[in-house]
Amino acid sequence: MGKYIIALDQGTTSSRAVIFDEHAQIVAMKSYEFEQIYPQPGWVEHDPAAILNTQVDALREAVRMSGVPLEEIAAIGITNQRETTLLWDRETGMPLYNAIVWQCRRTAPIVKRLCDEGLEEHIRETTGLVPDAYFSGTKLSWLLDKLELHERAAGGEICFGTVDSYLAWNLISGRPHVTDATNASRTMLFDIRKNDWDDTLLSALGIPRAVLPRVIDSSGVIGMLDPSILGRAIPVAAIAGDQHSALFGQGCFETGMMKNTYGTGCFLLMNTGDIPARSRNGLVSTIAWRIGGKCTYALEGSVFVGGAAIQWLRDEMKIIERASETETIARSLTDNGGVYMVPTFTGLGAPYWDMYSRGMIIGLTRGTGRAHIVRAALESIAYQSADLVRAMASDCGREPKELRVDGGASANQFLMQFQADVLGCKVIRPAVIETTALGAALLAGLAVGVYADMEEIRRIWRMDLSLTPQMDEGQRQTVLRGWHKAVERSMRWIDAED
Ligand code: ADP
Repeated sequence: MGKYIIALDQGTTSSRAVIFDEHAQIVAMKSYEFEQIYPQPGWVEHDPAAILNTQVDALREAVRMSGVPLEEIAAIGITNQRETTLLWDRETGMPLYNAIVWQCRRTAPIVKRLCDEGLEEHIRETTGLVPDAYFSGTKLSWLLDKLELHERAAGGEICFGTVDSYLAWNLISGRPHVTDATNASRTMLFDIRKNDWDDTLLSALGIPRAVLPRVIDSSGVIGMLDPSILGRAIPVAAIAGDQHSALFGQGCFETGMMKNTYGTGCFLLMNTGDIPARSRNGLVSTIAWRIGGKCTYALEGSVFVGGAAIQWLRDEMKIIERASETETIARSLTDNGGVYMVPTFTGLGAPYWDMYSRGMIIGLTRGTGRAHIVRAALESIAYQSADLVRAMASDCGREPKELRVDGGASANQFLMQFQADVLGCKVIRPAVIETTALGAALLAGLAVGVYADMEEIRRIWRMDLSLTPQMDEGQRQTVLRGWHKAVERSMRWIDAED
């Protein structure tokens, strides 16, 4: 049997294909960006054909670059931007509208209606989510209304899917209409405890079951890649949403293990084992993966402005030229000089949830300079992540042992050390930081027997950097107090009607 595995990583701004060898080393990688469509303020769409074409092009090009013979490729795994919603004709396969992207806010009024109808508690209880336009359910409901498709949908003539479904339908022979449990858990239509669509929410949103995909395991052979794509049928053997895939790719297989991805925003997920945790701190509960019909659950929290604070220093403030400079600038100071930045450009998420908070730099003195601002921006990424870790620890009643990290800004060693310092636990960076793609590859490898079990995968996982906290407890308390005071000052800044 072949030993290479391909991950298709369909992201929000680009489609990527990564070829791994059996030791989880990257052999070749290719990605293509595609257009973001903004039809109105707050609306975001993608062209389904652009998603598909860039993904297929990336796949073909990565295979070509690798020089790996097709018969050596054991499996393909899919990971994807989550919640983005597509609708297509079951007969012709033609998309019926652009994909409505997770960021799109057009269905906020539908969410409000659900809450007015008293469904907020039901949503939290069954789906593990917080009612929000971000998730797919209200986007699907909006599409069925807008295109007047209720009758055809009920008659089984139409398919709904998230991006994974759409790729599976288009890439696999026989056109399976499927999604995996992790993607289903982001629709706000799925009961994560029963592992089935929730009839109360389907009926509240006017969604017939006939439009929904069959929900499958995250690891398992779905079918064969259509031979017209690469010239050979290869098993497609995994699907997982991007953050779930990254949790798997980070080897967070045990309860309490967690990873944080430092990108434009930050995504923190903690494995909570075989029961969904109920958060008292505004985090969401989600399916981490489903293997052999058995779900592992996770708590998830996100930082809205992470690396974006660094982009802001570069693009708007123009006080740096490149993100990587921030490390040397921050290290030029021995401490923060009492300066804190709260980068709540779009409001404050978990565990505070205040949409009226706005960004702030506080603690300025006559001696404050550019380096203080840069350092405060970097530190804000770590403080916000630390707040999420604390919230998770309090929800599941266990102290964090270590945090596994990845994403573009995890390259910044000052930031990673500061993260370890304010958390008071180890920060560990893996050798392969393409953990999203890696997770999908490992899930696919597990399905086809490249890896015998999770134990074997655990042995493959390699660390690159391990940082232990260096800050003494007194100083840690001082900076955290400063941060929390700053957050408090930023809250309720704008008036509700602004
Ligand atoms: P995304 O997948 O969200 O586009 P990436 O994982 O590519 O994000 O990470 C890019 C983000 O990380 C950007 O916001 C950038 O400002 C930030 N970033 C990249 N390198 C560094 C660095 N060395 N120090 C601090 N921030 C960085």
